[in-house]
Amino acid sequence: MINWREIKTVLLDMDGTLLDLHFDNYFWLEHLPRRFAELNDIPETEAQSSLMQKTEAQQGHLNWYCLDYWSQELSLDITALKREIKHLIKFRPHVESFLEELQATDHRVVLVTNAHRGSLDLKLEQVHLAKYLDRIISSHDFKLPKENPDFWRHVQEIEPFDPETTLLIDDSEPVLRSAKAFGIKHLLTILLPDSQKPRRNRQDADQDIKEIDHFNEIFPSNDKRI
Ligand SMILES: [Mg+2]
Repeated sequence: MINWREIKTVLLDMDGTLLDLHFDNYFWLEHLPRRFAELNDIPETEAQSSLMQKTEAQQGHLNWYCLDYWSQELSLDITALKREIKHLIKFRPHVESFLEELQATDHRVVLVTNAHRGSLDLKLEQVHLAKYLDRIISSHDFKLPKENPDFWRHVQEIEPFDPETTLLIDDSEPVLRSAKAFGIKHLLTILLPDSQKPRRNRQDADQDIKEIDHFNEIFPSNDKRI
């Protein structure tokens, strides 16, 4: 599926791609509403609908990923609340083997994430991910989310890559479409970003974006051409 000889740079998303999205989904849909209700002394259902309204309004925008924004908006220390469930931060299956294999090749491996630095730091404390990466880029550094095609131009300025020989792996379709609009040629998505949820349905999805359940389907060692 991936011709590794055609690839020089591998851009990797973090949440839902390398790490189990269960942490993030559980945080926003269960833990935060529960703690928000407790701290404000309101019923949990009320907290849930109030949070849902606020988060939906910011979807696809950088604020949606911004812990400072949510800490201020909700008058809560979001990083501290995330820390309460940090045991749920985990690699997805086969990720470490995949990263180890990539490290043994001469591919440039770059993390590109919409995660805020606070969230990123907490995750890097919990899982030994940084050692596999040549560089870590947070979209907050450019004040543009990955969903904006201009984001990739900013990446290219600090991390030169040829779109023709670059592979992006990301569980977000809007992000993959933005990368495609910029010209990144090799695009791959994850069908099982959250270990606790069923496979994503990609009917009518863009056929230029290939899909996998797990990284063992694209181990470089499986590619007999290299
Ligand atoms: Mg993701």
